[in-house]
Amino acid sequence: MSKFSIYNTQSRDLQAVNVTGRPVHIYCCGPTVYRDAHVGNLRTFLLADLISRTLKLSGMEVLLVQNITDVGHMSEDFESEDKMLSQAKLEKVDPFEIARKYESKFHSDLARLNISPANSYPRASETIPGMLSSIQTLIENGSAYVSESGSVYFSAQSFPSYGAISGNRLDSLKPGHRYEYSDDGEKKFHADWALWKSAGNRSEMVWDSPWGRGFPGWHIECTAMSLDLLDSHVDIHVGGIDLRFPHHENERAQSNSIVGGEAVDLWVHGEHLLFEGRKMSKSANNVVLVEDLISKGLDPLSLRLALMENRYRSQMDLTWDSLRAANSTLNRWRSSMASWGNSETIGFDSEIHSSLLADLDTPRALLRLRAIEKDQLLTSVQKREIFNYADQVFALDLKRVVEVKPLTSEQSALLESRATARANKNWGESDRIRDLLALDGIIVSDNPEGQSWAWSN
Ligand code: AMP
Ligand code: ZN
Repeated sequence: MSKFSIYNTQSRDLQAVNVTGRPVHIYCCGPTVYRDAHVGNLRTFLLADLISRTLKLSGMEVLLVQNITDVGHMSEDFESEDKMLSQAKLEKVDPFEIARKYESKFHSDLARLNISPANSYPRASETIPGMLSSIQTLIENGSAYVSESGSVYFSAQSFPSYGAISGNRLDSLKPGHRYEYSDDGEKKFHADWALWKSAGNRSEMVWDSPWGRGFPGWHIECTAMSLDLLDSHVDIHVGGIDLRFPHHENERAQSNSIVGGEAVDLWVHGEHLLFEGRKMSKSANNVVLVEDLISKGLDPLSLRLALMENRYRSQMDLTWDSLRAANSTLNRWRSSMASWGNSETIGFDSEIHSSLLADLDTPRALLRLRAIEKDQLLTSVQKREIFNYADQVFALDLKRVVEVKPLTSEQSALLESRATARANKNWGESDRIRDLLALDGIIVSDNPEGQSWAWSN
C-alpha cells in the first residue's frame, strides 16, 4: 500500500510519513483562549484531523497533542500586553476564568465539526515546570542567556540554520524589524527572543523561576509540550501559515538545540481562510463563528464539507453561498444514503484513498464521491458502502437520517416567488425571501440548474 505524503514547508517538497512500530506523533498548535475560535482557526484545526484520520485509514496509529495557550501570547501590536490579560481587563474577570471559558467553547466547536479529540490538550499555565527545565537546558548548553532583570533570551546566532522553515535568515532580519519586546534593551542581538520574561509590574499569571518571578514566552511552550508529550520527536507539526515565522522558526531553534538534531520531521502549514473575499478581523467586523452558521440554520458540518472542497494548501475564500450549497449537498447525500439501504459495511475506493494519501487532495476525493453517487453501474449497496468508507475521513455524518417534512403552502409559494424574483434579476427580493425561508429552517441555495432547498436539520 502506498504511503501518506504531505508537503513539508521546510524541505519545500512532498514527504512520505515513514513511521513503523509506534504511533505517528503529531503536534498541532492550539488556540490562544482569549476569544472564540473563528472558522479560519477551525480550518487549521481540521487540517490536523484530516491528517490523523487519513493515517488511521491506512492502518496507522496516531498520537496527537494540541496545546492550549492560556498565557504568554503577546498581542500582535507588540505592546507587550498578554492577550489573556487584556481580555480579562475588558471582561473584568480573572484571566483564568476567560481561559477556561474559551477553552470549553473551543472543545464544543471541535465536536460540532466532528474533529476527533486529541490525545491530550496540555495547558501552558500547567506546564511551567517543563518549560523551566527546557529553558535551563538551553542556558546550560549556551543557546540562551539570562538578562540583568531576570529574563531569559534565546540567542538566535547560536543556531546556524535559523530561517530554514520560513526563509527568513538572520542576516536579512534587520534591526528595524518589529520584534517581540524589542523595546526593553536587554537583548544582545535584535533577533533574540524571550524564553522567560521577568514579571516587572505584572502581578497576574506569573510564576517563580530560578531567575525570579516571571512568565514564559509563547514559543517555548510548544517546545516544552511537544518534546515532553511526544517522546522528544514530532513526526508531523501542524499550524496555520502565519505561524511559520517567527513562532515555528523559534520553536525549531529551541527544540533542535535541546535534542541535538531535527526534533520535527515534517512542518505542515494550512493556508489562510478569507471570508467573502476579506481577511477576518474584529476591526472589520467580519469574524464568522460556528454559532453564526447555526443561527442561519446551517449544519456545522456544512463548514467541514465546504472547507474540504479546497486543498489545505491554497488560500480559500469561504462565502455564505458556498456554505448553503454544502448544506444542501449534505442533505442530498444523507437522503441518498437512507435510500440505499442500511448496510453498515465499510467499502473501499482506491481513488478516494489515493487522493487522500497524495497530500490530502480532498477536492479530488469529493469529486470521486460525486461520481460514485451518479454511477449507474454501481448498486445502491455498493454506493452506501463506499460512502461509509469515505465518511471515516470526511466525517460528515452521512448516515444521519434526515427528516423530510412536507412544505406548507405558504412555504411553497415563497419558494416560487423567489424563483420568479431571481428570473427577473430582482436580487434584493430574492435575498429577502431566502432569509424568510431560513427562519422556517429551509435553506435555499442556487446552482446552474436553478434554486434548490433543504431542511436545515
Ligand atoms: P490563535 O488562536 O490565534 O493562536 O490561532 C490558532 C490557529 O489558527 C493557528 O494555527 C493560526 O495559524 C490559525 N489561523 C489564524 N487565522 C487563520 C485563518 N484566517 N485561516 C486559517 N487559519 C488561521
Ligand atoms: Zn505552537
